[in-house]
Amino acid sequence: MEKLKNYIGGKMLAPRSRSYFNNYEPAIGRPYSLVPDSDARDVQAAVEAAQSAFPAWSAMPAEERGAIMMRIAAIVRERLEPLARAESRDNGKPLWLARSVDIPRAATNFHFFGTAIQHFASEAHPMADGSVNYTLRKPLGVVGCISPWNLPLYLFTWKVAPALATGNCVVAKPSEITPKTAYLFADICRKAGLPPGVLNIVQGSGAGAGAAIVEHPEIEAISFTGGTATGQQIARTAAPMFKKLSLELGGKNPTIVFADCDYEKTIEETVRASFANQGEICLCGSRIYVERALYDRYRDDFVRRVKKLKPGDPAAKNSRQGALVSEAHLNKVLSYVDLARDEGGRILTGGKRARLRGRCKDGWFMQPTVIEGLDYSCRTNQEEIFGPVVTLQPFDSEEEALRYANGTVYGLAASVWTNDIKRAHRVADRLQSGIVWLNCWMLRDLRTPFGGMKDSGVGREGGLEALRFFTEPKNVCVKL
Ligand code: NDP
Repeated sequence: MEKLKNYIGGKMLAPRSRSYFNNYEPAIGRPYSLVPDSDARDVQAAVEAAQSAFPAWSAMPAEERGAIMMRIAAIVRERLEPLARAESRDNGKPLWLARSVDIPRAATNFHFFGTAIQHFASEAHPMADGSVNYTLRKPLGVVGCISPWNLPLYLFTWKVAPALATGNCVVAKPSEITPKTAYLFADICRKAGLPPGVLNIVQGSGAGAGAAIVEHPEIEAISFTGGTATGQQIARTAAPMFKKLSLELGGKNPTIVFADCDYEKTIEETVRASFANQGEICLCGSRIYVERALYDRYRDDFVRRVKKLKPGDPAAKNSRQGALVSEAHLNKVLSYVDLARDEGGRILTGGKRARLRGRCKDGWFMQPTVIEGLDYSCRTNQEEIFGPVVTLQPFDSEEEALRYANGTVYGLAASVWTNDIKRAHRVADRLQSGIVWLNCWMLRDLRTPFGGMKDSGVGREGGLEALRFFTEPKNVCVKL
């Protein structure tokens, strides 16, 4: 089996431990490559490489840094097909999805921040007596970026690109479950002329390489996307060290459908919002609240559409649902279906592991699942499932819909479907959610603040928010 390597100081290196663990192909349920089990020694080497690269990289004019980033974006586009195949194989997602969303977005992330830095300006605050304050924004130094498995290269580059654009050097760790595209990305950086040590990619487990990044005293900031429990653990370590922290965590996103919505479009888009990427997107809507007057019609049409989302070989053109990322994750998602039953839920469709034939007979597939009959406060409706499972519940008033929607510890994303413009804005204003979509879902403008409130995170990514996170502001006050 192919042995993946770390990318440290511009070189592809084996882990110091010389030990590896299996990387599985979810669609067939078998290992196909080996991931370095890196530890604190590899992280130390990566930090030293980053520190050596920092003076030159941070002093390089933004135009030159941006030009290298643009070359990286161009090579990602050139290598769309092999990267998409690698992503689909590693994660289980349909190949067409990796080809149309994941990899193009990885290129766009580098293009976006490579150009954004050319327009990044800092503030000036003139005072009444003619004195002036001006703000300098300097890179932080060496920063850590830790990303999850659901949108592997997409989220990896979403963090790394603004960190590099602002002149930092990076030690990054992709998820051990989906290491391959980050491994391929190292070669792209070399080819694009990224100086050695500017980006270092340390593969390995969360408890090993991940924790070593968080604990390292000379890593100034941690940008993390992953589960809320992991975020808490990271904060416990990093906060007393006074590291800057950006935490993008879990969600339990509500979808609110009013009876006056644009019906056909709402059905189509809310099915997509529920089951895109097998429901393994932090932004997927997992609790659908429907105004009672529309409830029966919506439920029947929704279930009819969901039944058509047959799980299939991710490499096949017409597969609408791929495999879940791991056996452990599949079992976790299935356990929530059992919980829903225990809590009195009715399974309207799905609810079971999907068994395919041929190549994918041992793959980790699941039938897309719709459940009704549960109260908003039960565990199924409170805990993040992060798979192809949604619940339906009717509501009688706007007030009630808001109570349900806001009634969890999470606050990442919400979507609202109505043709009443006043209501749409009123509800958006009252939703406890970092992102609200009105009559759309996952329509993204990379300039906007991205992230969640409550237990869904700390800080925001995207646009200026990311450029500000990765810089240290210094106010200079001049008495004239
Ligand atoms: P995890 O929290 O398990 O892992 C995320 C990353 O952190 C992985 O690289 C993981 O490594 C690493 N990690 C795990 N433990 C530690 C540790 N103690 N110290 C440092 N790093 C660690 O999340 P998942 O990968 O399971 O991703 C799914 C979660 O991510 C869901 O909760 C989802 O909602 C959330 N998410 C949030 C998004 C947002 O924007 N808010 C976007 C996408 C996902 P390893 O995999 O090797 O264990």
